Amino acid sequence: MRSPVPDLLDAVLEECRDAGDDGELAGSIPELADADPERFALALCTVDGTRYAVGDAEHRFTIQSISKPFVYALALADRGYDEVLDHVGVEPSGDAFNEISLEDNGRPRNPMINIGAITTHALAGPRGATAEQSTARVLEGLSTFAGRELEVDEAVEASERETADRNLALAYLVRARGKLQDEPHDAVDGYIRQCSALVDVRDLAVMAMTLGAGGRNPVTGEQVVPAWVCRQVLSVMATCGMYDAAGDWMTTVGIPAKSGVSGGVLGALPGQVGIGAFSPRLDRFGNSVRGSRAFERLSTEMGLHLMHAPEVAAHVLYGLVEPDDDADGLREVRLQGTMHFAAAEAALRELEAVPDDGAPVVVDLSRVGSANAVGRRMLREGVERLRRDGHEVRVEDPDGVLDD
Ligand code: GLN
Repeated sequence: MRSPVPDLLDAVLEECRDAGDDGELAGSIPELADADPERFALALCTVDGTRYAVGDAEHRFTIQSISKPFVYALALADRGYDEVLDHVGVEPSGDAFNEISLEDNGRPRNPMINIGAITTHALAGPRGATAEQSTARVLEGLSTFAGRELEVDEAVEASERETADRNLALAYLVRARGKLQDEPHDAVDGYIRQCSALVDVRDLAVMAMTLGAGGRNPVTGEQVVPAWVCRQVLSVMATCGMYDAAGDWMTTVGIPAKSGVSGGVLGALPGQVGIGAFSPRLDRFGNSVRGSRAFERLSTEMGLHLMHAPEVAAHVLYGLVEPDDDADGLREVRLQGTMHFAAAEAALRELEAVPDDGAPVVVDLSRVGSANAVGRRMLREGVERLRRDGHEVRVEDPDGVLDD
């Protein structure tokens, strides 16, 4: 059997190609104006590291603004939440990617727009890192997210450096407000180098899945950043990743995402899938037209909208054996599913209903696939309370879902 997933991706690609060729190539970086506007590629990566790719999947392009969430992740991991939050906010700006978007206290409004990303670049690496060390940390970190060493496109880098006046102006403004740790020229140079790292759609899918899998690269198995960092980054991507189209994106596509001016789009659906798309023509917000279309199709076809209510954990109980049902005289409460808060709450109600008839109780977890920390704590507490009430309780937990 050949998996139908590549066929589905192919169908999405063709459909989105046929839907039109609107949009314009990026104007802000001269070198990007030479891109072939017809290129189009799409890739998926799953939590177990399986990758699917269709279209111009081998084509490499500069990562541009898609680097921003990853550098934000590195800064958070290196400097901690408080120091990073002291320098860059988390509020959507409602402005274009290169706007002067500062809060009253001088903090850039968020790390997904240029002014915030330049500030974030200077926060990568250990406290006291030089500008050079921060840039090295950024390139090494981006590579670890991708699971391979990324090269830099020197021509695009040089081209952007020649047209960096606006980014320099942004950097000087932040520096003047005391929120930029490096010299403006150094920070912008490093930021431009960061934006010039070369990736393909497969890299984007793996990078996205790493964020969506709590910081563990699904291909290399390396823990790149801690899980709390990913939660922070994905939240900011959801509200600010698509610039002033972020609200529209969240309602129609519903996947935390980030776009770049060379035509890449990356999306991460926590716990499920990482997606990368590429097509150079951009809409007026600076987001890839065909890339956005492909995300919208994929989200609809595969039910990937984050806000779509998951199937309710209605059947946590798959069986209840009463003491006189069979010869052993045991009461068995058989549970199933994934134990998060809502499922564990329902399970606790089953334990609460256990009558005080002196029969020993078996809590059978052999059909519980997994439990998160809250689910574990609640179930353990339920068992503990049954015992405290005088019940003899045995827990059947062959897979150790209650173990830490
Ligand atoms: N390097 C680009 C810039 O600073 C990144 C912008 C983008 O991808 N939207 O302008």
